[in-house]
Amino acid sequence: MRSLKLLFVSTPVGALGSGLGGGVELTLRNLAIALQQRGHSITVVAPEGSQLDNFSLVEIVGSLQTTAQSQGRDAPITLPSNSVLSNLWSYVRQVQNCYDIIVNFAYDWLPFYLTPFFETPIAHLVSMGSLSEAMDQAIVDVADSFPNTIAVHSHAQAQTFSMGFTYFNLQNGIDLSQYEFCPNPDEFLAWVGRIAPEKGLEDAVQAAAKTGLPLKIFGVIQDPAYWAQIQADYPQAAMEWMGFLPTQALQQALGRAQALLMTPKWVEAFGNVAIEALACGVPVIAYRRGGPAEIIQSGYTGWLVEPDSVEGLVQAIAKIPQISRTICHREAEMTYSLAALGERAETWLARILPHELAEESAE
Ligand code: UDP
Repeated sequence: MRSLKLLFVSTPVGALGSGLGGGVELTLRNLAIALQQRGHSITVVAPEGSQLDNFSLVEIVGSLQTTAQSQGRDAPITLPSNSVLSNLWSYVRQVQNCYDIIVNFAYDWLPFYLTPFFETPIAHLVSMGSLSEAMDQAIVDVADSFPNTIAVHSHAQAQTFSMGFTYFNLQNGIDLSQYEFCPNPDEFLAWVGRIAPEKGLEDAVQAAAKTGLPLKIFGVIQDPAYWAQIQADYPQAAMEWMGFLPTQALQQALGRAQALLMTPKWVEAFGNVAIEALACGVPVIAYRRGGPAEIIQSGYTGWLVEPDSVEGLVQAIAKIPQISRTICHREAEMTYSLAALGERAETWLARILPHELAEESAE
């Protein structure tokens, strides 16, 4: 495939490196590296204050967008004044002709609505399942008018949208060279994610407390009231908040865990933390729904548990020794390397290219 010029447009809910963007932050970086390794050139445009090494980064000022998952299904579309989302896309409109494809990472209505008004094709990586009627409609409209432009992270995520649409299942991948295999764990369990209600931290806290194993919690406190409630409800639980760590420090600490608990209350689109744990050789115990259920092979790379069953988590924790950490690590290498991600991403983008470019690329 010939070298493409790609413009990545980041999420407007937080600066890259802040943690507020959740998995999108790591996904964007990894996709940029994976495609750069295949000879494509990537420019990233993101909210002011973003940090991203080794890529050309354009920072855009403006007020951040509220996260879609914190609003109701019939929530109207809103933008703050001096919106960073609209500022990002004003910039993109001005420079669009310098790029072959624009890649949108925002789970927001505006970039979908704007798609027909752009000359340069826009590829949308949808990072969450169905959350609102307005977004569902915007995504389906784009999928209908611009075939192949929508990618998701799992089939389960795509199936949350009641109006079906055609999509590319990109899954995800990570830079395995950043993760160390840790064969001998310490006596603790890990939980990694944004501390927010949809992530269901309270279930992990209860399960860990029942087994007597300490729980180390890694991630940004996105909802302070929710976190305070958990601390008030389980004062005796042996839990420790480790803060929001950069990938290098996170993987070092996570690698020492006996297992990662994933207890989301929503349909997790993918769950980057699952593949990060596997890369370190850490088995994953997750509810059997959403992305984790497509990543984890129960009894092989961890255990899948009946959703919302704390008792199920407790039983799975007792069976951690049956899982080989070497097999977990190997699974990450086989399916979730940057090479594997880059190959899938190229297949997706080639389907979006204008006809003449795609033909040139096939030569
Ligand atoms: N993360 C991190 N440091 C931490 C805790 C989490 O960098 O201390 C990152 C983690 O690497 C992952 C992201 O936060 O990429 C969480 O993404 P995930 O897909 O699991 O969930 P999301 O937040 O997108 O719902």
